[in-house]
Amino acid sequence: MIVVLKPNADPKKQEQLTSWLEDMGVRVHVAVGDYQIVLGLIGNTEKIDAELIESLDIVDSVKRVSESFKTCNRKFHPEDTVVTVGDVKIGSGNFVLIAGPCSVETEDQIVGIAKAVKASGANLLRGGAFKPRTSPYDFQGLKAKGLDLLKIAREETGLPIVTEIMSVTDLPLFEDVDVLQVGARNMQNFDLLKELGKLNKPILLKRGLANTLKELLMSAEYIMANGNEQVILCERGIRTYSDYTRNTLDLAAVPMLRELTHLPIIVDPSHATGIARLVPPMALAATACGADGLIIEVHNDPMHALCDGAQSLKPEEFDQVASKVRAIREVLA
Ligand code: PEP
Ligand code: MN
Repeated sequence: MIVVLKPNADPKKQEQLTSWLEDMGVRVHVAVGDYQIVLGLIGNTEKIDAELIESLDIVDSVKRVSESFKTCNRKFHPEDTVVTVGDVKIGSGNFVLIAGPCSVETEDQIVGIAKAVKASGANLLRGGAFKPRTSPYDFQGLKAKGLDLLKIAREETGLPIVTEIMSVTDLPLFEDVDVLQVGARNMQNFDLLKELGKLNKPILLKRGLANTLKELLMSAEYIMANGNEQVILCERGIRTYSDYTRNTLDLAAVPMLRELTHLPIIVDPSHATGIARLVPPMALAATACGADGLIIEVHNDPMHALCDGAQSLKPEEFDQVASKVRAIREVLA
């Protein structure tokens, strides 16, 4: 349920209303806009009398929300959310370029790539230390050592780091990581999402291989319902019957999610296509359709990458994409 207050509503009366609602067993999320305050009621609102609330002199209108996702719903929170990572802002017109290898391999590799992507305008460094691989015989990532190497690359470049967490038990290792990524395969690992909801850290939540937008939003809701509202959504392609690409990039998800939620939405053209030469056109298309950012795999030596070499851009290719992305952003502005 959503309660829209009248402009200049008496703060004392607002407080009384909030504590009355809380006594009724719902959590009250307050969104303060330029002109209005909107109260989002989270929990079971069935017993709450909407007409009674509507009759109060500080209340403009009351709406029941049928959607199951509430905290991430734009109806509750009309303004775009801006997620902040150090000096980097994401969302509401703030565009982020995240780049780096699929996996952290060596110090030289990650530091070298970090310097290169930074010079090309990347704002955040990505790199997997814990890798979800389809085969148990494939490289599983350097794990804790990989996190240490990412931190060295951060020190050398100043770029905040984004890296995937696969299991709740690894959480203590991620204390000093700037953005925790939940990969496609873990989008519905609800125990993990609940724990991430207790952190005060941005979470990059990727859409599952076969998940709907509603399911993606419900997963964001798991994190947010536990108190952490710093969620960035990522469209990374879904399984369809595409035969020549790794996945199908669902670009319509960007404007659709924009309507449904106030959270920032970024696109991963690397995992969406699986083919390096398809990454630049899809990166530009994602920018053009209004994404708040891109996450792109970049490797200094894709032929010898331990993971996802086929879809990795070389630093010079990333440099070209980054400047074309900036040109598109200017056209959009
Ligand atoms: C990744 O970012 O390296 C990754 C494994 O992505 P996804 O979870 O989207 O497959
Ligand atoms: Mn990858």
